[in-house]
Amino acid sequence: MCIYCSINSCIIVITNKWAKKMDPNTISNENSKELLDALTHIWNHTFSFLNSMALKCAIQLEIPDAIQKHGKPITLKELANSLSIHPNKTHSLYQLMRLLVHSNFFIIKKSTPNQEETYDLTLNSQLLLKNHPFNQSPFAILEMDPIITESAHHLDEWFKNENDEDESPFHMIQGKKIYEHISSELKFNDLFNEAMSCDSRIISKVLVNSSEFKGLVEGVESLVDVGGGDGTMGKAIAEAYPEMQCIVFDLPHVVNGLQGNGRNLTYVGGRMFDAIPHAQVILIKWAFHNWSDENVIKALKRCKEALPNKGGKLIIIEMVMGIPSDNVNYSNAQLLIDMQMLSASRGKERTEQQWKSLFLDAGFRDYNILPILGPRSIIQVFPA
Ligand code: SAH
Repeated sequence: MCIYCSINSCIIVITNKWAKKMDPNTISNENSKELLDALTHIWNHTFSFLNSMALKCAIQLEIPDAIQKHGKPITLKELANSLSIHPNKTHSLYQLMRLLVHSNFFIIKKSTPNQEETYDLTLNSQLLLKNHPFNQSPFAILEMDPIITESAHHLDEWFKNENDEDESPFHMIQGKKIYEHISSELKFNDLFNEAMSCDSRIISKVLVNSSEFKGLVEGVESLVDVGGGDGTMGKAIAEAYPEMQCIVFDLPHVVNGLQGNGRNLTYVGGRMFDAIPHAQVILIKWAFHNWSDENVIKALKRCKEALPNKGGKLIIIEMVMGIPSDNVNYSNAQLLIDMQMLSASRGKERTEQQWKSLFLDAGFRDYNILPILGPRSIIQVFPA
């Protein structure tokens, strides 16, 4: 098993020998295959950004919506007609669809009676439909926005530079931290909050229906969702637990103007490094992986101050690197999002050991990891 990502497809071999070197002057039948495989490996990594761009193009052309509107699997010609693309681009649309079928966004079905090829949606592309309650398009569009991807073009420069402790590649290139950019650009702020919200729409549904979460919050009278964004998660919890008082806590520019439900949901603006509203349970989803250890410890200390010593619980929803899983997609997503965190905010995804040391440094006593949210886990942390 790989010690970095805990999956079997990526194998770390412990040996004191150098990798076998190929002599370019003596290429046999056997090593020419290896050579061509290595060449292909480099191609696949060089061009894999086109998987992202094909996805972006499909979202922007609204291909999933066009197929759904058609009401049945659609031929290439019908698809081309229903999209606002130039008439002489039909064959190019075929190329785009071929890649997206290969990446499991669409499926080809042979229609009767003439066995014509038609395209249908898969669950992956259903989650890109504008009217789907779990639409993930805003998240995909945010993460592929040029301002986000640009930092990744300069990773080498950032590695060589002597930057301030918490200066990310994004900061180096844009001259400001990502949250400064979000708070100063209204449109980007809306896109960011909508992107986070669409992730929380799925996770909140999975969470409130899970027996593990029910067990954690049973009898709890108050909960604060720290870094709770526009309150998508808070609203789902407040609805599922009408007896529980729920607070959504986030930066003032995020919660300003947002209204509670007049019963058990309110919004509070502030910074988690200064003070956090008191509650029996504190929930933090995806608001730590973008911060340095020092900042996370600071926020964890504020969480501890806001929780009762007896019965208080901190629930963190984040990834735990190295948690064993049979699903190679999980560790792949973890490794890629880890790089994204590095590039955008000098953050990181953490191993169990790294989480443990943060919890202990902040004065917490113990923790428990429930890896039940796909690549993410519920981490339960106990103050005393
Ligand atoms: N928990 C939400 C949002 C995650 S994005 C979700 O998973 O959908 C991280 C959130 O942390 C953003 O909403 C951001 O505004 C908030 N945040 C960033 N810095 C913060 C700070 N200092 N105090 C409180 N919230 C902060």
